[in-house]
Order: sequence, then C-alpha cells, then structure tokens
Amino acid sequence: MLVVALLLLGGLMSCRSSSANQAADRHSASSRSTIKPLRLSDATWRKRLTPMQYDVLRQGHTERAFSGALYANKRAGEYLCAGCGLHLFSSAAKFRSGTGWPSFTRPANAAAISEHADNSYGMRRVEVRCARCGGHLGHVFTDGPRPTGLRYCINSVALKFVPRADVKHQQAAKR
Ligand code: FE
Repeated sequence: MLVVALLLLGGLMSCRSSSANQAADRHSASSRSTIKPLRLSDATWRKRLTPMQYDVLRQGHTERAFSGALYANKRAGEYLCAGCGLHLFSSAAKFRSGTGWPSFTRPANAAAISEHADNSYGMRRVEVRCARCGGHLGHVFTDGPRPTGLRYCINSVALKFVPRADVKHQQAAKR
C-alpha cells in the first residue's frame, strides 16, 4: 500500500514539474525567438546612459515618486526602454494610479518584459526588467484595474516616450 502511494505521489510530482518546465520552456522559447539579448559592459552603459538612468536601469534604484517626466503623461504613443529602445508599453494600457510613477495594466508584448522575485527591503515583490538589455524598470503588483488586475509600476527615467505621430512617421520612413 505504501509503495503504491509513493508511486502515485512520485507520478504526480513528476507530472507537475514537467508541466512547469514546459511552461518555462515555452516562455523562454518565445522570448528567445522574438528578443535578441543586448549585453554591454558596465563602462559602455555608463557612457550611454545619464547618471539617473544608470542608477535605475543598471543599479536597480527607484526614482522619487512624482519626480519623473512621464508619470502624468497622457499623450498617445509608445514607451520604449531608455537603455535599448525596445517597445515596452503603449499609452492605451497607461492609467492614473496616483502613486507618482507611470503605471500600466500590461506590457506592449509579454516577451518584452522579464519577471524576477525581489525580496529586498523586507518585501516580497516582483521586479520587471527589459527582456533585451536586462535593465531594471520597476515592479508589477496585483492591485491594478481591470482588465488584467495588474499594475506595472515603472520608473519614468527607465522609459523613452515616442508620441503617436512620431511613431507613424518612423514607420513610414522604414517602408
Ligand atoms: Fe532595454
């Protein structure tokens, strides 16, 4: 009886871990297929970024609430990574959270963002980084509005805003 129970338990555990592995594989496979990682030396990042951008994107610091240029921005357009230019968020997903940081209900593309457990400062949070350059963007919380219930709380300085008219202009120029 004990042997049967152990066999059943083992089967259940291997089934669960294999489905978890498959999910992880799917995620990394889709990320790999769409996003090519950008790896630069620390010296290069220091040259490319402003001191504030470096502190946030490469050191994981947080800008002061209500201090950034984009938390109250209501213009239509795209939010790109200030480190590498990857399209991270769109204005359609931006909402007024009152927190003092730009807040979004979803990324422009799930593969553009990577999530990491962050247990610093005695808190259990989920850090979000740019999937291409690994730059620290902010955190995602589960107290957001519908439809996702998520709140991507992002540092202004980690983002570059491109107004919609300029996006259209850039796309036309590529054709
Ligand atoms: Fe980036």
